[in-house]
Amino acid sequence: MGMKVLDLTCEHAHRFEGWFQSAEDFESQLERHLVECPICGSRAVHRVPSAPRLNLSGATAPAPRNDAPGADGQPLNVSELQARWLRMMRQVIEHTEDVGEQFAEEARRIHYDEAPARGIRGVTTSDDARALLDEGIDVTPLPLPALLKEPLQ
Ligand SMILES: [Zn+2]
Repeated sequence: MGMKVLDLTCEHAHRFEGWFQSAEDFESQLERHLVECPICGSRAVHRVPSAPRLNLSGATAPAPRNDAPGADGQPLNVSELQARWLRMMRQVIEHTEDVGEQFAEEARRIHYDEAPARGIRGVTTSDDARALLDEGIDVTPLPLPALLKEPLQ
C-alpha cells in the first residue's frame, strides 16, 4: 500500500525525494537506471545514507535548547546589559548631586520650590521613597552604593 519516500542524491549532490513501493523497488529501479535526478537528469543516484526521513523534517531537535535558556547562561547578553547599566549609572552620578542622608528632605524641598531644581541622589528608606512617590515626587531606586566605590571616569 504505502509508498516509501527515500532521500536521494545524485553525483552532483542534488538532494531530492524518490517515491517507491519499497526499498527493493528502489534498488530494482536503480539497477535499471530508471531513477534520475530531477534537477540535472543524472542517473548516478544513491540514497542519502545517514539521514532518515524523520530527522529531516524536524526542527524539533534544536528547540528544547531555546526553551531552556538558563542552564549554560548567556554571558554575552548579561555583560552587555551590565555595561549599559554602568554607563547609565555613571551618567546619573555625573548629573546629580549627592545629598546623602538628606535625600528625602532635599527632594521635597526641590519639589516644593524651596531649593534649586536639580537632579539629586542619596539614600533613603523605602518608606520615605514610597511617601515621596505618594506626594508626586519622582524617585528612582538605584543600586548606587556598590558603584560609588568605582572611580568615575
Ligand atoms: Zn543532479
